[in-house]
Amino acid sequence: MAKIGINIATGSLQKEEMIVGIDLGTTNSLVAIIHPESKQPIALKEHNSSSLVPSVVHFDEMGGLTVGEEARKFLITEPQNTIFSAKRLMGKSYNDVKQNASFFTYKVIDDDTESLVKVQVGDKFYSPIDLSSFILKELKARAEHILKTPVTKAVITVPAYFNDAQRQATRDAGKLAGLDVLRIINEPTAASLAYGLGLNKDEQKTIAVYDLGGGTFDISILQITNGIFEVLSTNGDTYLGGDDFDRAIVKHWLQQTGLSEEEMSGNKELSQALRLKAEEAKKHLSSNNTFEAKLNGDLLRITKAEFNELIAPLISKTIDSCRNAVKDAGIEISAIDTVVMVGGSTRVPAVKEAVSSFFGKPVHDEVNPDEVVALGAAVQADILAGNNKEFLLLDITPLSLGIETMGGLMDVLIPRNSKIPTKAGRQYTTSKDGQSGMRISVFQGERDLVQDNRKLAEFNLTGIPAMPAGLPKVEVSFLINADGILVVTARELRSGVEQKIEVKPQYGLSDEDVEKMLLDSITHAKDDIAKRALVEAKTEGEQLLETTEKFLTKNAQQLTQEELVQTAEAMQALQLALTMEDKDLIHKKMEELNDISRPYAERLMDMAVSQAMKGKTI
Ligand code: ADP
Ligand code: MG
Repeated sequence: MAKIGINIATGSLQKEEMIVGIDLGTTNSLVAIIHPESKQPIALKEHNSSSLVPSVVHFDEMGGLTVGEEARKFLITEPQNTIFSAKRLMGKSYNDVKQNASFFTYKVIDDDTESLVKVQVGDKFYSPIDLSSFILKELKARAEHILKTPVTKAVITVPAYFNDAQRQATRDAGKLAGLDVLRIINEPTAASLAYGLGLNKDEQKTIAVYDLGGGTFDISILQITNGIFEVLSTNGDTYLGGDDFDRAIVKHWLQQTGLSEEEMSGNKELSQALRLKAEEAKKHLSSNNTFEAKLNGDLLRITKAEFNELIAPLISKTIDSCRNAVKDAGIEISAIDTVVMVGGSTRVPAVKEAVSSFFGKPVHDEVNPDEVVALGAAVQADILAGNNKEFLLLDITPLSLGIETMGGLMDVLIPRNSKIPTKAGRQYTTSKDGQSGMRISVFQGERDLVQDNRKLAEFNLTGIPAMPAGLPKVEVSFLINADGILVVTARELRSGVEQKIEVKPQYGLSDEDVEKMLLDSITHAKDDIAKRALVEAKTEGEQLLETTEKFLTKNAQQLTQEELVQTAEAMQALQLALTMEDKDLIHKKMEELNDISRPYAERLMDMAVSQAMKGKTI
């Protein structure tokens, strides 16, 4: 039951506050909600207008500002006061964007190349966060006007490739706009949710999300297992989108009219006018075969066939990215069950055909491609609001259960959504010679590092008889009984020493907590994979140093002076790499150390074998 409140100002009944989903796009932004009656996601719009709000901010002489379609009109007449594509600048320094400086027809400050960019309008300076906050403020105001209720909570989407700084910048923009940003979620995840993917707990699916918007291209391969989204790989191009289609058309027309690029770039108004006409032509060609218009007396003409030829290299670039993404995901193209189309530019028939032919199956484009991300954000918001109770089931474990292993990694024994009662076990061993105890720390959650999960219990298995590292066999078993109580047992198999503990995993855990933990794991999936890879590299590196050390203590006399010096140097280099948080460097230094030690390790091995042969009497 939703709570009913009374709006003191109007005296009218007011439902509990809604959490909205927001797609803050490079080109267009919009707000969506789950309709309270139909329970379906819908994009918010005023009568007779589009749900899309162009992500454009215009400043007038008096310092006032407008956002959206109104602001977009000034792209031609006042390019210096009219800011578009601010999302491209989020979390960027001037150095990051300078090779594309000509793209921005407004002033991007270049006096300090290292710090974050600012945009200058008149004598005022704005950060991309400020600019995004103006767009969000406008979206919030529109939503409040349409819903007739305050809107203060939102889920906002970002591209999967956004780094932490860019995600934080987006949060900050939300805060500046007066929004409590409950979650930042990846655009491809949102798009999948809008198609209902991931909402069925039994479903296991591999999905490709192809997102071609105005300024960016993003391909993501996701795997959904029991409602958990895992990002297998992402690829794309931060400077490829429908804008490039427009530019290709402009270029075509320059040739047609005999105008030079210099003449055009010297005349910002003309270049903007051409840009807008080109976009009009492109959209027209998505459902027609020719486009014709007049601009300053010149005839602008383009056919669909010409357009397709112009954009063919751009489309094939996106297909190359798709190929790389599939490869990085470690799967075959045929393993992809569903292909989802996102972004206004996927309306171009040639794009759809190319994508469908690459993946060898029809693509999903039933949901409006420029609304689909916002709709999915609304689905996520609704889950957060606790309106989607079926999402949590009682006869299953809502979160994964596991123990901490080397380097603070989470090793899952019972995955989330397992039916209870259930049991699982796994063998572990010691990492140090003569180790007599082993700490068993039990965690709950979906993140790769235990520090991000919830600790349930901890105990020490003591009395393991002295043995070299790696020899003891410690069996850890998890048993969840029908009452949901988890019994963790650790037993050293050679000696039979055993320790046991009981915990109630769900104790003190509200549905909201569980949802938060699940959604966090989705938001952080990419970071987590990177963190896990680093931790694993570090652990391997440390182990290699240890075994090399051991080997040297035993066999130093058999090695040449040069071998000893080289080994010491390589060990030092590896030691240094371990402190530098760089997985690739660690792997490289491990390889170098292995390359040095391999020849003498083999030599000593051969010696040992022939020694053993000699001693044998036949
Ligand atoms: P973003 O995610 O970058 O904000 P959108 O998903 O809103 O972008 O896509 C905007 C792009 O889609 C623009 O380049 C726009 O010209 C293009 N677009 C919109 N409708 C069509 C259409 N019917 N045919 C071709 N391109 C379109
Ligand atoms: Mg988009």
